[in-house]
Amino acid sequence: MAKRDYYEVLSVTRTATEVEIKKAYRTLAVQHHPDKNPNNPEAEDKFKEAAEAYSVLSDSEKRSSYDRFGHQANAQGAGFDPGYSNIEDIFDMFGFGDMFGQRQGRRTTVQRGSDLRYDLEITLENAATGKDEKLRIPRLEKCDECNGSGAEKGTTAETCITCAGSGQTRYQQGFFSVMRTCANCNGAGRIIKSPCKKCKGQGRIEKEKTIEIKIPAGVETGSRLRVTGEGEGGVNGGPAGDLFVVLHVAEHERFERQGANLYSAVPVTFAQAALGAEIKVQTLDGEEDLKIPSGTQTGTVFRIKANGMPALGGRGKGDLFVAVTLITPKTLSKEQRKLLEQLAEIEDVDFTDESFIDKVRNIFS
Ligand SMILES: [Zn+2]
Ligand SMILES: [Zn+2]
Repeated sequence: MAKRDYYEVLSVTRTATEVEIKKAYRTLAVQHHPDKNPNNPEAEDKFKEAAEAYSVLSDSEKRSSYDRFGHQANAQGAGFDPGYSNIEDIFDMFGFGDMFGQRQGRRTTVQRGSDLRYDLEITLENAATGKDEKLRIPRLEKCDECNGSGAEKGTTAETCITCAGSGQTRYQQGFFSVMRTCANCNGAGRIIKSPCKKCKGQGRIEKEKTIEIKIPAGVETGSRLRVTGEGEGGVNGGPAGDLFVVLHVAEHERFERQGANLYSAVPVTFAQAALGAEIKVQTLDGEEDLKIPSGTQTGTVFRIKANGMPALGGRGKGDLFVAVTLITPKTLSKEQRKLLEQLAEIEDVDFTDESFIDKVRNIFS
C-alpha cells in the first residue's frame, strides 16, 4: 500500500502552523486511540499513521526535508520505528496523560511490547519462487513463572499508595496542573515486595524462539513481512509487539532486476550473428531456446516472455530481456584463421550505412 501524504493524513494544509498540526494530530489520536478501539486493527493503523505523520511534521527539520523530498526524506535516517511504539509518550508530551487513565488506574502499568525488526537476505531464485524460512529470534517474552506480573508465585504486586496505581501524580502550579511520574513506584503504578526469581521482577525473560515464515514469490528488496504478535512480549500482561521481517534480495551474478523484468546478456559468435542461429539462453530456472535472425547486430535486445519475476501476490510474470553480445575470438585454430582470411578478402562492409554512422555517434556522444 502506498504511503499517504503526511499532510493528508492529518488533514492540514502544507502551510499549517505547529499549533494547527498539533491540534489535528490530537483529534485523530483521541479518535483512533487503541484503548478506545480495542481489537480494531483499522483504528490502530490509523493511529500509527497519524503518529508517524505527526512525528515528522512536528519536527521542523524533518518537516522541511519531507517537504522537499517526500517520504524518501526520513525513510533512511529516521530508523525503522517512527517512534509510535510507546504510545503513552505521545500523550505525556501534551500533558494530558491522565486522559486515558480511567482503566482502574492501570494506565502506565500495561504496555505493548516493542516491535522487532529482522533483516533477512535471500537469493533472487528464492525471491522468484517464494520460500519457507525458519528464523531464530532472541526476544523478551512474558515470564511463565509469574505470568508476566513480576511478583513471586503466590504473591501479588501491591498498588502504589502515592499514585493510587496510576503511575503519575498531579502537581499543582497556579491554575495549571501538571502530571508527573510517580516517584514512589517510578511510574509502574505498583510495588512488588517479593519479585519473581526467574525474571527478577521484570515480568519478561529473554528467550530465543524459532519462527516460521512464508516468503511469498515476487518479493523485492525492502519488502516487509509483518508477523503479528511475534515481537517482544508486553509489560505486565500487555499485548506483544509485532515482528517485521525486512527482505534484502542479493545481487545475482547473471541477472539484473527491474520490477518484474530481468535483464541479462548472451554471447554469440560472428558467424551466429551473421547467419542467424538458434541459441540457448540461461533463464532463472533453466534454459530457453532463442532464435536470432541473420544479420543480428551486437547489443540487440530480445524478449523472452514470462521468464522474469512473478508479480507479488498477483498473477503473471515479467519478461526476460537478453542483449546479444558479439564475442571476438581471442585465439584461432589454423583452419579458422584460413577461413577468416578468405572471408576478409571478399567481405564488403558498407561504412556509409546509416545505422553504422548512428552507432559511431552514440559511442562518442
Ligand atoms: Zn517472572
Ligand atoms: Zn506510584
